[in-house]
Amino acid sequence: MTREKKVEQYDVVIIGGGASGLTAGIYCGRARLKTLIIEQSYVGGLATNTNEIENYPGFPEGVSGKGLMELFHKQAKRFGVDFKLTDVKKVDFSGDVKVVETFRNRYEAKSVILCNGSKPRVVGAPGEEQFIGRGIAFCATCDAAANTDKEVLVIGSGDAAIEEGMFLTRFASKVTVSVLHDEGTLDCNEIAKAAAFANPKMHFIWNTAVDSYEGGEKLERVNLKNLKTGEITPVDCFTCFLFIGYIPNTNVYKGIIDMTPRGYILTDENMRTNVPGVFAAGDVRERFLRQVATCVGDAATAGVMAEKYIAESEIFEHQIMTGNGVAYVFSAIEKEQRDFLPTLEELEAEHPGYRCHRIDTYKSDGIAKRLGVSCCPAVVVISNGKVKKIIESNICKCEVEAQL
Ligand SMILES: Cc1cc2nc3c(=O)[nH]c(=O)nc-3n(C[C@H](O)[C@H](O)[C@H](O)COP(=O)(O)OP(=O)(O)OC[C@H]3O[C@@H](n4cnc5c(N)ncnc54)[C@H](O)[C@@H]3O)c2cc1C
Repeated sequence: MTREKKVEQYDVVIIGGGASGLTAGIYCGRARLKTLIIEQSYVGGLATNTNEIENYPGFPEGVSGKGLMELFHKQAKRFGVDFKLTDVKKVDFSGDVKVVETFRNRYEAKSVILCNGSKPRVVGAPGEEQFIGRGIAFCATCDAAANTDKEVLVIGSGDAAIEEGMFLTRFASKVTVSVLHDEGTLDCNEIAKAAAFANPKMHFIWNTAVDSYEGGEKLERVNLKNLKTGEITPVDCFTCFLFIGYIPNTNVYKGIIDMTPRGYILTDENMRTNVPGVFAAGDVRERFLRQVATCVGDAATAGVMAEKYIAESEIFEHQIMTGNGVAYVFSAIEKEQRDFLPTLEELEAEHPGYRCHRIDTYKSDGIAKRLGVSCCPAVVVISNGKVKKIIESNICKCEVEAQL
């Protein structure tokens, strides 16, 4: 017998409780929206994997990833955000009410923010899990300084591996790169390849893959296996950087949310996905730099946009699309477009059955989009709660009156 799921309503549901989800939660909670964060494993996400975050502003002495995420968490709780520790199994974003399902619950929300993050692709060799964050790293920008005058190992030969490896040579005494291919063949671009071969700190071990990791409290050595001969070469290193790609946690959105071929969510600069009311922030979305600072920026935008979307939905449904009216879509910074405002006063006075709405697109084009207006100025005539006519050229009082 299938068990009925418990239904709960929220203004905003945030999927993922890492740096992005927690920041979006802070913004939504502070806007007094009823907000839920659903996190499948541990609150704080990927950032909790790193001992030291030195590049997040406001912490001149650095801060542990766990410590920083605890502060984010505390702040989100202070603003009344609810947390559920479970994973999202299914979503339905087809209606105005967005549905997010976990094993036991069905959450209905006015807006959803996707903050699922991505996970670094790992090798899967023995010892790996034990040393992640203790000598196995995924981020040269983050961990390079800690490797000053140390010997490091890089796994991979794509753009990220070689470019990050080159960056590491500014700090490390030696950067050894384990490459799957024959001598001279790298997967990266030609410019990076030429620069890497010319750099005396870069060393390559060809035809190799990780066989196992060894160490005590911390990683000490990586055993590389020659793919042709089977020979094992132990490489002592302070840190082993894995640059073999990331996997975004987006399976649950396949066919619903637009993504890149690699599964990263596509958004516009305001974090809007292809589905109105659904936003994405942080490592889960397609973008250049994946850092806590960029997550925070994304998620702040997403939180504010969710708030705006909800406010606009209220105005759209309960004020504009009721009865008869006229919506003037304009930009308040354009003098010519402002000049039509007194005409609206006249229309309201002369046609008391019609309410005139002034939709300023300067800060948000959300309502204009919902009305089907792509450029302004435009006048939308609403009759019995439905769009009757959109006038986009030759806007004048008589044109509008002809449609009333
Ligand atoms: C070892 C390491 C060191 C780093 N060092 C630094 C550094 O020094 N400075 C810096 O700025 N950045 C650093 N980064 C990068 C930084 O950690 C990330 O950019 C950031 O944490 C990503 O945050 P996020 O919230 O977007 O994603 P995540 O932190 O990945 O959070 C996403 C969360 O969503 C959850 N989730 C996924 N799918 C579901 C689902 N279906 N249901 C419910 N929950 C789900 C996951 O469990 C996860 O907790 C480092 C990363 C690593 C791995």
